[in-house]
Amino acid sequence: SAAEVIAGWNAPDQVAAAQAHLLSPFESMEKLGQTPDRPLLTRGEGVWLYDEAGRQLLDGPAGMWCTQVGYARPEIAEAIAAQAMTISYSSPWYFLNGPSAALAARIAAVTPGDLNHVFFTTGGSSAVDSALRFMQFYNNVLGRAGKKTILARIDGYHGSSHLTAAVSGRAGNRPNFDLEMETISFLSAPNMFTRPEGMDEAAFCDHLIAELEERIETLGADSIGCFIAEPVLASGGILVPPQGYHQRTLEICRRHDILYISDEVVTGFGRLGHWFASEEVYGITPDIITFAKGVTSGYVPLGGFAISDAVLARIAGEKSKQSFYSNGYTYSGQPVACAAGLASMDIIEGDGLLEHVRDIAPYFQAQLATLADLPLVGDVRGAGLLGCVEIVADRAKGVSTDLDAKLTLRIDRLCYDKGLIVRPIRSMCVMSPALVITREQIDLMVRILRESITEVGIAARAEGLLP
Ligand code: PLP
Repeated sequence: SAAEVIAGWNAPDQVAAAQAHLLSPFESMEKLGQTPDRPLLTRGEGVWLYDEAGRQLLDGPAGMWCTQVGYARPEIAEAIAAQAMTISYSSPWYFLNGPSAALAARIAAVTPGDLNHVFFTTGGSSAVDSALRFMQFYNNVLGRAGKKTILARIDGYHGSSHLTAAVSGRAGNRPNFDLEMETISFLSAPNMFTRPEGMDEAAFCDHLIAELEERIETLGADSIGCFIAEPVLASGGILVPPQGYHQRTLEICRRHDILYISDEVVTGFGRLGHWFASEEVYGITPDIITFAKGVTSGYVPLGGFAISDAVLARIAGEKSKQSFYSNGYTYSGQPVACAAGLASMDIIEGDGLLEHVRDIAPYFQAQLATLADLPLVGDVRGAGLLGCVEIVADRAKGVSTDLDAKLTLRIDRLCYDKGLIVRPIRSMCVMSPALVITREQIDLMVRILRESITEVGIAARAEGLLP
């Protein structure tokens, strides 16, 4: 029964069922059907997870950067149950429901500028997909059918629908999928770690801006519909663009009437100490902000985008040409999901979690930075409660060799045994803990990382893998 599974009975049966029947994201097709190398988690509380063996684990990535208020908050569980028993579903095509209206208003109140309308989806991919399709719809209604190209960036990640995967520039997600599209143009990643040698931060910013200007010149502004950018590239490895990059890219987009879509699926809902990072951290008011993950603290799926009144006004009312934004989901504004979103926002506000993140983030960054003295650590970088420790075995060879990835996997395993979840992205240990993390828990995280990186380095040297 559901109750038995939820209670964690018969964990070996669940593992066997997964092995036989579950196709997971990023499944190794070579190992399909073999014993899963994903541990079975049975319980969570605050920043802690517990696996079937009863091991207590500090959740470094906060699930998938999404468990903002932490696991097992009764307020969210109760809101979900209460809404499910009041009205569990209503069709967004024909009806309104209280939770989606209230959550839209609440989100509109904390977005920058005039981003006052919210469209709800089922998660991050559907949020970004809908925002990109809004751009297409918008330009068609405006009579600019040729203005559709999407400017995106290498190492960006925006989702797993066809269009969002196509605008995701992370090499690892692309093999064997048909993602080449003529209306997508990739710009360089704003990666300070791999910037051309001899360039300081300001020169690197100039370099990226010059590339953007040249691209617009080459393609023609009349053919470009939008620029999509994560304020901090998350899955690409916590890439914080150089100072001034956000404002300058926005200014160029405005000059050419190119919509600026800020993908805040990771950076939204407190990750950088504010509801959204675009304006309060990076000083920009984009045209559209996409969000997901932290909106419900990961309790149930929900995503969406907030869009500016000024943009909507250009194709609304008399200017609409009788058009319908005929894009939507059965679960757009799902009342149970939106009730969870409201409860999560209540907690973030009531517990002062934005203030807590602003207070604790400098400590988190400083403690992670202490790892830079380890020989295997090539770079430590971050912003707010996002941090990345990049493993580089041989600095002369540059970043992310197969050896780096192999050693990072060993570090991951050792951290797990010592009680810390890392789940690296290739050679990057990305730490993105729940917003409720304490100084003591940060100390534990950094202590386990230090021990594990050191021990893996010693063993690799003994094996002759390292000089
Ligand atoms: N956008 C960004 C910046 C993301 O990091 C992700 C997921 O990691 C997505 C979009 C896609 O979100 P989802 O996995 O909820 O579809």
